[in-house]
Amino acid sequence: MSTPAAALDRPSPSACPNCAAVLETDDRFPVWCPACEWNLQAAQPVVELMARKRSRAEREARRAEAGRRRTQARVEELFDALHSGDGTVADRSWLLAAALAGLVHLITLAVLGGSLALLLFGTWPLRVVAACLLGFGVLLRPRFGRIRPDRTFLARSEAPALYALADRVAAAVGARPVDHIRFDERYNASFGRVGLRRRSVLSVGLPLWSTLTPPQQVALLGHEFGHDVNGDHRRGIWLNWARSALLEWHLVIQPNHFLSHLLLAVPKWLTGRLLELMDRLTVRSGQAAEYRADELAAQVSSTVTARQMLEALLLGPSAETVLLRYRSLPRQRSGPGAGRPDADLWAELGGLVGSLTPLERERRLRLSAREAGAVDSTHPPTHLRIKLLGGRSVDSHPVPFGPAEQDGVEAELAPHREWMERELLLG
Ligand SMILES: [Zn+2]
Ligand SMILES: [Zn+2]
Repeated sequence: MSTPAAALDRPSPSACPNCAAVLETDDRFPVWCPACEWNLQAAQPVVELMARKRSRAEREARRAEAGRRRTQARVEELFDALHSGDGTVADRSWLLAAALAGLVHLITLAVLGGSLALLLFGTWPLRVVAACLLGFGVLLRPRFGRIRPDRTFLARSEAPALYALADRVAAAVGARPVDHIRFDERYNASFGRVGLRRRSVLSVGLPLWSTLTPPQQVALLGHEFGHDVNGDHRRGIWLNWARSALLEWHLVIQPNHFLSHLLLAVPKWLTGRLLELMDRLTVRSGQAAEYRADELAAQVSSTVTARQMLEALLLGPSAETVLLRYRSLPRQRSGPGAGRPDADLWAELGGLVGSLTPLERERRLRLSAREAGAVDSTHPPTHLRIKLLGGRSVDSHPVPFGPAEQDGVEAELAPHREWMERELLLG
């Protein structure tokens, strides 16, 4: 295939140590084997452990791997169901999770009611116990979080163009206008409701935003606002409160003494399993909601644009590299850019699209599939999201985001970019 000159420039292709397949190498990316997935994940550091500890570590690793595979199987099962148009799997799981949450609420109420009754009608020693229980009940109270506007927040008055765009996208997916928009340094975006008044907060990572084209930015907003209308029960108060109460029980129960160990091991184990079960049940409805949000993203842009936006999520590690390199560049000594590198960080991030070789793209897609096995993964693996979007026909009505408005939004974000560059160079 290659000319002799090219063969001299490049290192000769190596063979996979695992299955002897010929490996394609590119020094910008890790070498891995698509045939047997050798080195798909960068090698873990080898820690020297004593034999007994090692066998325990191996046992734990095997158990974790088995758990990961089970989660992955469930994630794929849900994908298959949704792919063939069956959404009832997610609904059944949600009903079970809601019932479980109801049980937790009943226990919390029983603890509160019981301790109040003891406090009123009990003997003195019982009242002391009741006071302790009541204190514990306070720990189990619902928590809604609080909004603490900081440097990352953009007020409506500061960013009229950005809010106007956000409002249009929100209206297009049927969500209420957002209360707060913030831009941070992550390669991610999220949407949530906080506080007793359930104010909505849209968080967008400026690095992610910078790799996207304007239509893809609209798609991203469509996905995030989609969270307000996609029936994601994980975000509801009923489940959230139950989950945080269970977690509180689980953390408070600390069998650190032999005797307490005997008494508390069972409740500790039970709360741990209940938490797991709750997560497992909500992962289905949560992931179904994510797919639904992707569909809304396609609705406000187009299927192609929404898929490109999802593809851009694979660029996270590349963006990380760009940020690291920017920090290590020599700083300018004088001029308007004194103290900064002579490079345009944001243009470099914007140029990342198309930087992946097909093999590296494949590696990151497969990694996303592996990570789907992690219990805390909130989103379905990117490759399944891209696949599901391709398999559905979506009635798209692109939300306009023209050049003048793009310039307006960019101007509003400029102080944020400045600030983030400074932070990056300081850190
Ligand atoms: Zn191999
Ligand atoms: Zn999402």
